[in-house]
This record gives sequence, structure tokens and C-alpha cells, in this order.
Amino acid sequence: MDHIKAGTHATRRGNPDWFTGAVWQDPIVEAPAPARVRAARVAFEPGARTNWHTHPLGQTLHVIQGTGRFQTLGGPVVTLRAGDTVFIPPGEKHWHGASPTHGMVHIAIHEFDGETHVTWMEPVTDADYAVAPTG
Ligand code: MN
Repeated sequence: MDHIKAGTHATRRGNPDWFTGAVWQDPIVEAPAPARVRAARVAFEPGARTNWHTHPLGQTLHVIQGTGRFQTLGGPVVTLRAGDTVFIPPGEKHWHGASPTHGMVHIAIHEFDGETHVTWMEPVTDADYAVAPTG
């Protein structure tokens, strides 16, 4: 077993090429092969969000704090709240982040296909981010 004690890995700032605003990432697991699960705690400050992106094997998000936003391409913007879980199927283009006025923290769980676990695309524009959520 590998007991990774709190404080072992420094919190990372999300790469500005892939995120808008301040995003803080704490890795939970990057399991060695043949396992391929990856998980991280991701904290978005108000207004912060991912770029549009896809995951080759899908992704599960579980919100643990705050109020956020989620959208699949062509779908409505929806509100995420603590306790919510979202599953994004493989290849579905989407983004996730905080609400404009509140931070949001989620656990992100996905699998590594041997080459990648995420394909990054263009930023979510301020106009697209400003769309009022429908639920
Ligand atoms: Mn995602």
C-alpha cells in the first residue's frame, strides 16, 4: 500500500492555457498501470472555469462545496451544488466551473486511456459563461 500523507504534494495552479480564472488542483490518485483511474480535488474561485474539453473515457464530477456551472455543447447551462454528481460520457464536449459569484469545489474522477485523460479546446467566452442557468 501507498499511504500518501496530507501535505505531500503541493497544490497546483491550473494551467492558464486550459482554465479561465484561478483554479487550484490537489491530486488524489494517479494509479500506476494496469489501473488507470485518476482523481483530483479541484477548487474554482468565483468566475473561474475550464476550457471546453473532452475525456476519452468519460468523467465523473462530484461537487463537495459551493455553487458551480456545467454545460455540454448544445445543452443548457446548469447549476451545480454540493452533493451533485455529473457523469460526462466519452467524447462529450463540455466545461465546468464556479458560478460568477461563488466558488465551487469538486472531485474529478476519470480514466487514462494510455495516451491522455483530457483533450483541451478553446476557452469558454465571457458571453457564453454569462448565460443564465436553466436549472
Ligand atoms: Mn471535464
